[in-house]
Amino acid sequence: MGVAKLEQDLAFFQSILGNSGVITDADALVPFNRDWQKKYEGKSSVALRPRSTEQVSEVLRYCSSRRLAVVPQGGNTGLVGGSVPVFDEVVLSTAAMNKVLEFDEVSGTLVAQAGCVLAALDEHVGSKGFMMPLDLGAKGSCQIGGNVSTNAGGLRLVRYGSLHGSVLGLEVVLPEPLLPPPPSRGGPHGSGSSNGCSGGSACAAAGSATDARVLDLLRTLRKDNTGYDLKQLFIGAEGTLGVVTAVAIQCAPRPASVQLALLACPTFAAACTTLRAARRMLGEVLSAVEFLDSACSDLATAHLDGVRNPLLPHDAAAAVAGLGEAGDTGGAGAARGRQGGEEGLVAGGVGDDRQFYMVVETHGSNAEHDTQKMERFLEHVMAEGCVTDGTLAASETQAKAIWRLREGIAEALARRGAVYKYDVSLPTTVMYDLVEVLRQRLAAAGFGPEEAGVQVVGYGHIGDGNLHLNISAPRYDDDLLHQIEPYVYEFVRQHNGSISAEHGIGLMKAGALPYSKGPVAIELMRRIKETVDPQGILNPYKGGDG
Ligand SMILES: Cc1cc2nc3c(=O)[nH]c(=O)nc-3n(C[C@H](O)[C@H](O)[C@H](O)COP(=O)(O)OP(=O)(O)OC[C@H]3O[C@@H](n4cnc5c(N)ncnc54)[C@H](O)[C@@H]3O)c2cc1C
Repeated sequence: MGVAKLEQDLAFFQSILGNSGVITDADALVPFNRDWQKKYEGKSSVALRPRSTEQVSEVLRYCSSRRLAVVPQGGNTGLVGGSVPVFDEVVLSTAAMNKVLEFDEVSGTLVAQAGCVLAALDEHVGSKGFMMPLDLGAKGSCQIGGNVSTNAGGLRLVRYGSLHGSVLGLEVVLPEPLLPPPPSRGGPHGSGSSNGCSGGSACAAAGSATDARVLDLLRTLRKDNTGYDLKQLFIGAEGTLGVVTAVAIQCAPRPASVQLALLACPTFAAACTTLRAARRMLGEVLSAVEFLDSACSDLATAHLDGVRNPLLPHDAAAAVAGLGEAGDTGGAGAARGRQGGEEGLVAGGVGDDRQFYMVVETHGSNAEHDTQKMERFLEHVMAEGCVTDGTLAASETQAKAIWRLREGIAEALARRGAVYKYDVSLPTTVMYDLVEVLRQRLAAAGFGPEEAGVQVVGYGHIGDGNLHLNISAPRYDDDLLHQIEPYVYEFVRQHNGSISAEHGIGLMKAGALPYSKGPVAIELMRRIKETVDPQGILNPYKGGDG
């Protein structure tokens, strides 16, 4: 941008958003320009913080008229470089759009502005006996608009399904109006809206029914077969089609009983057998099945303060003592499994064969029934030999500590140095083959752990066939990258998988889309983009737009 033009742009943005809504200070811009991994960094000289749908619409109207590129940004926890500028695009942050608009305690439907942080929403609906249908390690920072825009999966998908099912409605501001301007802009916003929201006023408050840039799909209906389900287009669109300004989502009743087990398995095949048994024996109460390899466990315990693996010999005693705080009987919804003599321990001793760990959780309404089910399952998998050791959380504190081991892996990897992250869907039984073949390939090319400090590790949502393959290295290195890509993508294509299970395409995989989508599908995506965003101002270079 030229200096005079930039001044003019800033003056306009300030007239709409006020001074506090326009960030230009170089230090203050750093967190808007740099991604969570500190891997991608743009050079934007302005970040905007609108508070309302109307302000977003005004900003996009202006940016469209000036052909200024815009990067929508939520909590900036995305892992594919989609949430930060590539060059000097305007950052449009939804952080100040953080109001809960409506919650229906009978149906459990929540309507919230896009900038609400996931954990805050979970707390809000939790106070009314409900729970958000998704949960992920970044819940303290990621926003519901970002979750929708990435179609985030997370830890509970196995039970509560994807956002394509739980999102009931969306409000989206498009880069261009799809209708000619209305004769007058003076009328009351939202009046006469028939959007199906039970509370009416809350949904209408989210946006304007008369603005042809605002796509009002903010319904709270479970059933609505009126032509194309347009909201689905924006779930996972990664900010390339519009700015999501409000979300209506179906929450689940908060479970009265939560059981959580951490299990050790000798092989990945044994982990797969355990998964099958969990599905069969825990059935309707099964809510999460996660896995991590022993290298991930070591990374988390080495790099994160206070994180322990209660199944590891050197940690076991401290963990059992440390996890079960005196007097902690767990709050409502806490797991209460107690096995054998020592609190939390299922197996008598600690086995040698613990190459993989699994986190298995149940959500139910009857603690006695669920505990019984979990215990039978544990007895079965241990008798079969596919689980060599295990611990059942006996309190909410213990459950949180086990989840921290699993959820902390991304953070531990980031602390170790550079990380090449791949988030792939593969048939479950071959998922871990990718980790092993890549480990061998890199070692053969001189990128082994000893000589180059490179570690190849795997963890993820085994219950959904979703592997997080991570290559941790002391620094980013193009020679190493060339050993990894396109090899990983070719492996995925060969096994009919997806190069992005849940993180999205972003900047990282913009050129790799053909590994998972055919030419006809890519052409349809291109035409949709062209129709909705003919000038290509929204999140350029991302999501297959590269
Ligand atoms: C520790 C950690 C654990 C994670 N675990 C998981 C996991 O289990 N499952 C999973 O799926 N992901 C996971 N992620 C990735 C990330 O948290 C999710 O993708 C999350 O949904 C991103 O939300 P956000 O608000 O941070 O979005 P951002 O990172 O800000 O943005 C992500 C993308 O969405 C677009 N966007 C954001 N807000 C809007 C909006 N309002 N309108 C239009 N476009 C928008 C951006 O342009 C960008 O392309 C994890 C990340 C971390 C750091």
